[in-house]
Amino acid sequence: MDDLTYGTRNKRGDWAPNEPPGTAPLFVWPPRPGALLKWLPHYFLPYNVLFFLSALAWWHWVVPPVEIMQTVSWVWVLRLFAVNAVAVFLWYGLFELRLYVQRAQGNRFKYNARFPADHPSEAFWFKSQTRDGMMRAFLSAVPIWTGLQVGVLWAFANGYAPWLEWTSHPVYLAALCIAVPVIHEFHFFCIHRLIHTPTLYKWVHSVHHNSVNPSPWSSLAMHPVEHLLYFSTILYHLVIPSHPMIALYQLHVAGFGAVPGHVGFDKVELTEGTAIDSHAHIHYLHHKHFEVNYGDGLIPIDRWFGTFHDGSKEAEARMNARYQAKKARMNGKSEKTA
Ligand SMILES: [Zn+2]
Ligand SMILES: [Zn+2]
Repeated sequence: MDDLTYGTRNKRGDWAPNEPPGTAPLFVWPPRPGALLKWLPHYFLPYNVLFFLSALAWWHWVVPPVEIMQTVSWVWVLRLFAVNAVAVFLWYGLFELRLYVQRAQGNRFKYNARFPADHPSEAFWFKSQTRDGMMRAFLSAVPIWTGLQVGVLWAFANGYAPWLEWTSHPVYLAALCIAVPVIHEFHFFCIHRLIHTPTLYKWVHSVHHNSVNPSPWSSLAMHPVEHLLYFSTILYHLVIPSHPMIALYQLHVAGFGAVPGHVGFDKVELTEGTAIDSHAHIHYLHHKHFEVNYGDGLIPIDRWFGTFHDGSKEAEARMNARYQAKKARMNGKSEKTA
């Protein structure tokens, strides 16, 4: 595919889309039903449908029967851990292999022309962004993900969570499934904004921001505290009436859903003429500029707080004005304390 019909490439070779990514027409006033209808397929396809189906598969084939989940035992916990680890390896590895090892589409649609593997950095374990991300995924992300999963399933099995059945509450549970990505976005924005406060940024979130030019394994390259906060999105389902399968779906949106945002390419080519949108540009700009786009744009919270950056010149100017104002504030403070 010719990426220059969709965007432009600058002197450094970095590609940017012509059309800035907007926020979803979900929480806008006045409502825009036409835009909403046009956008709706993107809400489901392909990622959320895939994560929903994977949660369904886990519920039917990986998670043990309720009587067994009432007691935590190594047998089912280790099995769950192994399946999660293999799935993470395959899902993240697929993007890594095709786009970064085989470099199947070269630089086409790539936001940053450089490939991290060509530029080893002291910031990473073994100087490798990929190895660092993989190790953090298997040493910390998957154990914490599985731990929370086990805790929530155990709570459901023992009657500590409000469990509704599909047969008696089909409409409510279907609506809850549709709301899962919105819950994720709300939770992600809150914890992400929290770990951008100076102390938590320094000790926790700076690990994730070592990837200034993110690639698939950057997705789960986080400090364990961030993993805990990030995956705790599943805990909402201990409070709101829900179903354990929907809790699993919530976790899969977080666990598997991180990859599109870190893929580094705007489109992933499937064949010569077809590609799927990654919707990665908003989060790519977060990794590039740090204090913009704390959310992914599903809820326009960044717009409300003035931190939205869509890659346009106007957004760049807004961001620079904000940074200047912050610098002036900081200088004022240090003069006062001096
Ligand atoms: Zn990120
Ligand atoms: Zn961040």
